Amino acid sequence: MTTLLLADVRLVGSDGSPVDLLLRDGRITEIGPSLAPDGGARVVSTGGRWAMPGLWDAHVHVSQWASARHRLDLAACRSLEECLAAVAERLRDEPRAEEVIGGGVWHARWPQPPHAELLDAVTGDVPTVLVGGDVHSAWLNTAALRRYGLAPHHGLLRENEWFALMPRLGATDPAVLDGWVSDAGRAAAARGVVGVVDFEAGDNLTDWSRRFAGGFHTQRVRASVWPDHLSTAIARGLRTGDVVDPAGGLLTMGPLKIIGDGSLNTRTAFCHEAFPDGSHGGLNVAPDQLEALMRRAAAAGIDSAIHAIGDRANTVVLDAFDRVGARGSIEHAQLLTRADVARFAALGITASVQPEQAMDDRDVAEEQWAGRTGRAYPLADLVRSGARLAFGSDAPVAPLDPWFAISSAVTRSRDGRAPWHPEQAIGRGVALTSSWGGVARLARGGPADLVLLEDDPFAVVPEALRGTTVAATLVAGRFTHSTLTSD
Ligand SMILES: [Zn+2]
Repeated sequence: MTTLLLADVRLVGSDGSPVDLLLRDGRITEIGPSLAPDGGARVVSTGGRWAMPGLWDAHVHVSQWASARHRLDLAACRSLEECLAAVAERLRDEPRAEEVIGGGVWHARWPQPPHAELLDAVTGDVPTVLVGGDVHSAWLNTAALRRYGLAPHHGLLRENEWFALMPRLGATDPAVLDGWVSDAGRAAAARGVVGVVDFEAGDNLTDWSRRFAGGFHTQRVRASVWPDHLSTAIARGLRTGDVVDPAGGLLTMGPLKIIGDGSLNTRTAFCHEAFPDGSHGGLNVAPDQLEALMRRAAAAGIDSAIHAIGDRANTVVLDAFDRVGARGSIEHAQLLTRADVARFAALGITASVQPEQAMDDRDVAEEQWAGRTGRAYPLADLVRSGARLAFGSDAPVAPLDPWFAISSAVTRSRDGRAPWHPEQAIGRGVALTSSWGGVARLARGGPADLVLLEDDPFAVVPEALRGTTVAATLVAGRFTHSTLTSD
């Protein structure tokens, strides 16, 4: 293993006096001023750039994110008409397209709900699937319903009906997909990302073992298992945190992932009070089944990561953690009762949150959770209660860029709009540490996973955090991204 001396570094959170970092065998072995490069160490001058622990995205669907970068992006479409126009344009540009797959359709506020015939009018017989922005629904035309063997109906699939189709969508050759994943990994490294928790609904341990064997190296990956792969992981004796690929050591066993309820945009999040249409959303898994799965995982040393968006779903899942005594996280925790906020710290459960989604959702939330948005995305309340936060993007729901999450958490604003519930904004110190994957600071003996920034993130105006320039990223002491001339 190489030894690297990063010279002339300023540590984020310090007074800015320059220090050197010595990295060996994937760890930080020394931090101090003017370190002597021991025999064979490669010296890289950082020119006084700011160093801090590398960034983690605690909630990614990696294959979907990598695929979405090659699909028709409809996130900017503000209406059904704009969406149809974008699909029509794609078909004009690619008249021989055999299938159109789009993503980022935010349809919750459209006056007319999407249905198959509306798409048919612009796509004709070309199978077309447009995935909802929150990835809890998809809008299919008649040709796509036929292709995937679904009964002809209105064309909007939701929740479990859609999740059953999702893995079959646009089935890509694994070699092609792995190439896309490598591209996405490099792009993430350029934003300072050193690790992701992958919640892809597939055989993640197998997929990632193959990718690492094939040379993937830009991030550490904590691979989640879904209930259908739980038995295999238990049979292999894998516990959360275990290294799965002994060669590189970058792949570790993650948590069990269970989808507890629906989502806000699909109006399926399980809530104590009704949505304006009178519905309360619902659970995607019965509470006794949820507990049985969590209990089985916990007995095998596997943490649980349970998706809960509505406040009632969060109550149910917190109850389950309480009864089972399991370790882990609630994914999303978007709407919480005041009483439930304090239970995260009390139970030692991580709130795995996606602050950028608050910016995507603020208008829908004001309509669908009217009168309740003071306890939606309640980051400041969670921090005050002592809960540990872990930031993620839920890519492809939001782009895989931790600076979006950090910026949204600090400013509760985007695109120059007035801050949304600014009382729930948090300080940048907590926002940064919530993106460090459990690492508290750069320290001797810690992993040599770090980023070098052009500017001190504590010194820039809050609005500039979103566009922070990452000069270099290192994982296990190796550069995965660098703009430094001497590297
Ligand atoms: Zn997700």
